[in-house]
Amino acid sequence: MEKIKLGVSSCLLGENVRYDSGHKLDRFLLDTLGKYVEYVPVCPEAECGLGVPREAMHLEGDPASPHLITTRTRQDMTRHMMTWAHKRVVQLEKEALCGFIFKSDSPSSGVERIKVYNEKGIPVNKGVGIFARIFMKHFPLLPVEDDGRLHDLNLRENFIERIFALRRWRDILGKKESKGNLVDFHTRHKLLILAHSPKHYQLMGKLVAGQKNIPWQDLYEQYQTLLLESLELKTTPKKNANVLQHMMGYFRQQLSVDEKKELMEVIEDYRESYIPLIVPVTLISHYVRQYDQPYLKEQVYLNPHPLELQLRNHV
Ligand code: SF4
Repeated sequence: MEKIKLGVSSCLLGENVRYDSGHKLDRFLLDTLGKYVEYVPVCPEAECGLGVPREAMHLEGDPASPHLITTRTRQDMTRHMMTWAHKRVVQLEKEALCGFIFKSDSPSSGVERIKVYNEKGIPVNKGVGIFARIFMKHFPLLPVEDDGRLHDLNLRENFIERIFALRRWRDILGKKESKGNLVDFHTRHKLLILAHSPKHYQLMGKLVAGQKNIPWQDLYEQYQTLLLESLELKTTPKKNANVLQHMMGYFRQQLSVDEKKELMEVIEDYRESYIPLIVPVTLISHYVRQYDQPYLKEQVYLNPHPLELQLRNHV
């Protein structure tokens, strides 16, 4: 698989672009995730010409459409930033990004809960950074997160699973449109989709099965929308446990009574959050290899992202 292209707030990679010439280097992003990712750094404030160092800014006014104001000289930079941002997102279309990691708490780059000050100088945590808002509107289904939220291990796992899935989907888009390629992709991702959304699992199954009557471009677009929507919905221990039980059903003939009992107990322990997901997944993977189960061994669900990231050790 080619490296995954991800947009990122430049300061998170250690670039000295903050208003005080500092940075906010995130070691996980640079050293660990960076092995699999080609970053496209973006610093809205430096790139739109405000310079480094520069005066600090914050958001003011209506949280739904706030103004970007310099805190000391009170210059309104909103129009300047928005004009630049609208051009920058069009340039970013060419990068075919699989997602974006924004810097939290920034009036330009933050994706949620950014302070917006009212006329009395009292902040409410209801804003979105000016560039982040324009980016998310331009690429509505693209996975986005901020560095703060990625410290939550469930959110981290979900985000990384989505960017890897999108990379695999982009590989399919790079091939000739064919029934075989779409069916193959869907078949390998079925259980991953089921773990996120049983409803999308049904819809996507019907879409792929009924594909004869839909033009290729519409079919691929509809499939992509459903894929991205489904993976945005979070997995839960209950949904994962249902998928694991479903997989267990493929070994009805081969497993002894004791082995079935042990596997069932491991799945229930996971459902109760006594053990992490990696434990039942490892046990099932062992049976998949041992019995060379042809459908399950192709399932991305068992191996959605590199083991070295240890993402399922904590969820
Ligand atoms: S938070 Fe955004 S605008 Fe601020 S320094 Fe980082 S990349 Fe630049």
